Amino acid sequence: MISIGITGGIGSGKSTVCKIFETLGVPVYYADARSRMLTDSHPQIISGVKSLFGGQIYTQGKLDRKRVGEVVFKNKNLLNELNRIIHPVVAEDYIHWSRQHFDKPYVLKEAAILFESGAYKQVDKIVTVSAPRELKIMRVMQRDGVTREDVMSRMNNQWDDEQKVAKSDYVIYCNDTDLVVTQVLGLHEKLINSKG
Ligand code: ATP
Repeated sequence: MISIGITGGIGSGKSTVCKIFETLGVPVYYADARSRMLTDSHPQIISGVKSLFGGQIYTQGKLDRKRVGEVVFKNKNLLNELNRIIHPVVAEDYIHWSRQHFDKPYVLKEAAILFESGAYKQVDKIVTVSAPRELKIMRVMQRDGVTREDVMSRMNNQWDDEQKVAKSDYVIYCNDTDLVVTQVLGLHEKLINSKG
């Protein structure tokens, strides 16, 4: 079984592409959702996060992500500390999850910050989902009901597509013209025949 990382900037269409892979029977690990779940439940993360931000950062067992976002936005050291607490636990969780799918030809790990978090080292091949910047901004504004500035400030914390594509093995263009399903089917064929 080979392990494929799938990434792309905010609004690129990663989740949309992953849903197509799922219809083909490919297991997908959604790292962002999984790390949010672990942040609220894993004792090692909870104690680390509390020692970084104080006990009040959890209300009714849920991390106050808005507050954390505001704090780390202004303090890169705290962001690095936070990542040092969360990422090893997610990496371990992914290993455990992927072992359950040993009988599949490949599994996907979907992560917006696959490169930025260092998680790319844990996978055998990397796929980047790419879309034009303006299209990504419009999609996210529409999907989340947020302003252009909100989207751009989230984008500014991520690598741009060119950097990601340059370090990837495969690219899926998720724009309005290229047929996404056809690209996914083509890549699926390649991956089931790949030896890692
Ligand atoms: P995020 O990192 O913010 O979670 P994402 O990369 O997972 O974003 P999606 O949620 O898959 O992106 O897509 C963003 C929005 O764009 C969604 O509303 C989705 O329905 C739409 N979208 C994605 N791909 C296409 C496409 N090829 N054509 C039209 N709309 C698309």
